[in-house]
Amino acid sequence: MRKDTKIVNAGRHSKWTRGVVNPPVERASTVVFDSVKEMKHATANRGNQVLFYGRRGTSTSFAFQDAMTELEGGAGCALYPSGTAAITNAILAFVSTGDHILMVDSAYEPTRDFCDHVLKRIGVETTYYDPLIGKGIEQLIKPNTKLIFLESPGSITMEVQDVPGIAEVAHQHNCIVMLDNTWGAGVNFQPFDHGVDISVQAATKYIVGHSDVMLGTATATEQYWEQLRENSYLMGQCTSPDDLYLAMRGIRTLGVRLKQHQDSALKVAQWLQQRDEVETVLHPAFSSCPGHEFFKRDFTGSNGLFSFVLNRGNQAAVNALLDGMHHFKMGYSWGGFESLILANHHVGKLRTATSFSYQSPLIRLHIGLEDSDDLIEDLRQGFERLNQTLNNQ
Ligand SMILES: *Cc1c(COP(=O)(O)O)cnc(C)c1O
Repeated sequence: MRKDTKIVNAGRHSKWTRGVVNPPVERASTVVFDSVKEMKHATANRGNQVLFYGRRGTSTSFAFQDAMTELEGGAGCALYPSGTAAITNAILAFVSTGDHILMVDSAYEPTRDFCDHVLKRIGVETTYYDPLIGKGIEQLIKPNTKLIFLESPGSITMEVQDVPGIAEVAHQHNCIVMLDNTWGAGVNFQPFDHGVDISVQAATKYIVGHSDVMLGTATATEQYWEQLRENSYLMGQCTSPDDLYLAMRGIRTLGVRLKQHQDSALKVAQWLQQRDEVETVLHPAFSSCPGHEFFKRDFTGSNGLFSFVLNRGNQAAVNALLDGMHHFKMGYSWGGFESLILANHHVGKLRTATSFSYQSPLIRLHIGLEDSDDLIEDLRQGFERLNQTLNNQ
């Protein structure tokens, strides 16, 4: 099946849909059995998509888990109430006190905070590494390195990683390769074809696609699936069937949405690249983006999220740019149908293994499904406000 056909069909098996098009919302805490035999059967098969107790999921969760494994690959998918919960629980499923992990320096900020606070407290050591390190990661692997965490492209700064290169070295040293694949969205990057063992997504973003549900997923190869699944259960992780229904509805348009996000974002990024105010465009499809060669080699497309660096500007000027926007709203998340903008004045401060090459403010955009000409006009007026403020200072 080709990608778009897969997206339409993912998880819609007749055992879950029972004759209607969409897997219904099945709400449950208690599951009731009529005989000892049925109860025993459910208990024995409780990890294998059999109704057992609400916390183990219902047909709505089973359908969504199937949908995610069909999109991402792997042997199974564990569900969490947010992308952050998926990241932290997937890591905790595999590390113990005394272990060491390698974390990419461009990781999503809460991932980093989890390492610096929770992992530290339980005696798991974190070393941050250069997102562009590739096979050079070998020098950082210690005898107790359990897991290497990647995020590609990186949050805010967008470096694309050599995932297969890192995975090859990791596996030579028996390290688990875990990837935050939120940007790939289960469509533009196939984690398990590139050596990943566990692929995590903030389904909150493009899977849900409408900015109205928090949801996380972690999909694993056969080797790691059972440990991931059972640890998720031990930690009491469960998700609402109503949210899963919305996420599954989101999946149906994932292909067309991503294509439109991609086309509009490329158009806006090309326009930005011509502007005097812009020093560089950090979009994985542009050669100016670090790791662009890995994007070309490993990804099948891009989406609406990218950053750019101004070549001049200070807080007041950037505030003037941001404050008068009509279509771009300020917000931390992304992946919905709406355009978003945020400024980051402290990218470098977050890093410990590398330094960020640019000093001027960085702006991250999520290009939504509005007409791209309206978005460009909005940005053009924003640059006017930026320039006016700078000229008056
Ligand atoms: C948003 C995001 C997360 C966290 O997802 P939540 O559902 O907001 O907890 C994790 N990783 C990346 C790359 C994200 O953009």
